Amino acid sequence: HAKHNNGGGVCVFTAALETAVRADRAIELALQGSTLEDELDIVLQPIVELDSGRMSAVEVLVRWNSPVLGDVSATEFIAVAERSTAIHSITRAVIRKGLQAALQLPDMVAISFNISACDLTSATTLAFIRREIERTGINPSRIWLEVTETAVMANAEVAAEALQAFRDIGVRVALDDFGTGYSSLGYVQRLPLDKVKIDRSFVTAIDQPGGDTIARAIITFCHTIGLRCVAEGVETARQRSMLVEAGCKHAQGYLFSRPLAVEDLLSLHAQWEQHPWRVDSPQRGAA
Ligand code: C2E
Ligand code: MG
Ligand code: MG
Ligand code: MG
Repeated sequence: HAKHNNGGGVCVFTAALETAVRADRAIELALQGSTLEDELDIVLQPIVELDSGRMSAVEVLVRWNSPVLGDVSATEFIAVAERSTAIHSITRAVIRKGLQAALQLPDMVAISFNISACDLTSATTLAFIRREIERTGINPSRIWLEVTETAVMANAEVAAEALQAFRDIGVRVALDDFGTGYSSLGYVQRLPLDKVKIDRSFVTAIDQPGGDTIARAIITFCHTIGLRCVAEGVETARQRSMLVEAGCKHAQGYLFSRPLAVEDLLSLHAQWEQHPWRVDSPQRGAA
């Protein structure tokens, strides 16, 4: 009986693996055949200054509606795109669209882009961003680049230099999904960073009894070494109040707003300028 189960398990595993490989191959082909600039879209999620309830920044998130595959999740197609030069086209399209949106927001509002490990160490990406800053006339300090902890750790020495090269042209850099990789705190302390984003998993954990330990430790660590921190994935009022109490100044998540199309984000911004976000505010068009 056990033997039978065992064999079945192997079969299922192989089938699942095969399906995954085929899906990746389909994404790869669709990426090759696509006019990315037209098929890609962006959505913007507010980053809230917790004290004031105002929008201090927006994170740009890519969306892909492929004529062949339909909507493909960002995590899925970014991972495939990173294996070819497609990632650079995606990054450029997203940055162009994001800066266009940023120009419609006040100078006070920063714009945060996710970049891949290969973008980070690419001289072409650096040159592209420098040209975009000149072309648009945007204040470079409004631009934040988010790199995941895992991407940075893949090649720590090179990453540190690359982060500094971006800071040298005036942009800010943030470590995304902090706490999910395997970097030592000593190493993070030596990286040239402006902020750290606390991974959603530690924010979610706050609602469990005693689950706030890691979020608190990260906030304290960041402040001790002079880094700002942003909490991501805040979904409940309780998570928010614990973060405020622990001294975290900035957060984003469904509690405040889902990622929105540019037009909707602009009207939400106008709304919040009149009535900053408050925990007891009635739900406004942000759902
Ligand atoms: P990330 O940078 O950590 O982005 C946060 C993800 O969490 C986004 O998913 C966002 O929609 C989602 N999120 C925000 N608030 C909440 C919340 O309260 N609850 C929950 N459950 N989720 C929330 P999304 O848009 O699917 O993006 C997934 C990942 O794909 C991003 O994680 C980022 O690593 C990557 N990504 C997205 N856009 C780009 C891009 O333009 N370039 C690159 N290289 N990567 C991107
Ligand atoms: Mg991010
Ligand atoms: Mg993140
Ligand atoms: Mg995350």
